[in-house]
Amino acid sequence: MNQLSFDQTNREQTRDYLHARLKGLHPEVEIEAKIDQVFNINKLKLKKNALVLGHNYMEPALFHGVADFTGDSLQLCQVAEKSEKPILVYLGVEFMAESAKILNPERKVLIPSQKAGCSLASSITAEDVRNLKKRYPGVPVVTYINSYADVKAETDICCTSSNAAKIVAALDTDTVIFIPDEFLAQNVAAETGTKLMVPKKDLSDAQDPQVGVKTFVGWKGRCEVHEEFTVADIERVRKQEPDVVVLAHPECSLEVCQAADFSGSTSAIIRYVEERPEAAKYLILTECAMGDNIIAAINGKKKDAGKPADSPGPEVLRLCSVRCPHMAQITLADTMAAIEQEQYEVTVPEEIRIKAKASIDRMLEMSAKLGL
Ligand code: SF4
Repeated sequence: MNQLSFDQTNREQTRDYLHARLKGLHPEVEIEAKIDQVFNINKLKLKKNALVLGHNYMEPALFHGVADFTGDSLQLCQVAEKSEKPILVYLGVEFMAESAKILNPERKVLIPSQKAGCSLASSITAEDVRNLKKRYPGVPVVTYINSYADVKAETDICCTSSNAAKIVAALDTDTVIFIPDEFLAQNVAAETGTKLMVPKKDLSDAQDPQVGVKTFVGWKGRCEVHEEFTVADIERVRKQEPDVVVLAHPECSLEVCQAADFSGSTSAIIRYVEERPEAAKYLILTECAMGDNIIAAINGKKKDAGKPADSPGPEVLRLCSVRCPHMAQITLADTMAAIEQEQYEVTVPEEIRIKAKASIDRMLEMSAKLGL
């Protein structure tokens, strides 16, 4: 989504825009302190002809004030492919910036922090995938896009949380190696009537699939944010707010997704809220910054419609004890330094890039064929 609908070279417009969106999320004094940072980053960004891509989990001042485009990791890579800008600055974690580089090898891709890892992506190595393929010869490997380039390079086809069920259903096979997110595998298995086997890392207990039984061979990867949400969290909030609509990301456990009213990718959750503004209260079970960004977008819409910030509109609840420590590494100050110094450049060895790109391309082709 392209969203910077103000003159980025005008400090007063930057100020008005940020105050309108971030009202209620940060104290006024904190918003005021961020205005010059946002204004200076945007000036430099325009001077360097850089395109800034902001993941849905970025903090609101970066997400609403600096990112030229926002969305989930795949949407952002696709936007980048269409841009002519020579520098891409990825506000997200390393595997996402790698995907941008995989699809845009001729551009300079920068990430503001070298500490922006991911518990899920680092749960599995390329060697782990080779061992799985040795143990289950001929079984196709479907890998969640939240993985590193060398793991994608060992993969037949990538998937996202929104297309995973349709992609595995379209593969003409009973058994699929579905990695690395155990909870996404649980959710997709439940949706597609598939049995899930999750062997130990060393595969010492790996069993053979039964003939004629649809089976996923999963992996014990977890998102350290989404695994924290529990059914008890939902019950507690429902007790206090009986009308609340609960939206959960499929990186949450099967029990949590089944207890929620809706489960979907970050983009699907945003769409759900946008399309149903009549609901009074939402509880969003995903990284807390995304709830902040939805509130800021609701504030912006009120301002654009000439309504006061405290006029009625949906209320978004989130459990902010759960934050992604990796996403939080990306700050306004580091983003400024990244553009100024053109640091830190993301590189992917060409042999790995070509193979990883093939697994993403297969997903895009199949998604197009399935009308996703
Ligand atoms: S929210 Fe979870 S999947 Fe996303 S970067 Fe953080 S740890 Fe990784």
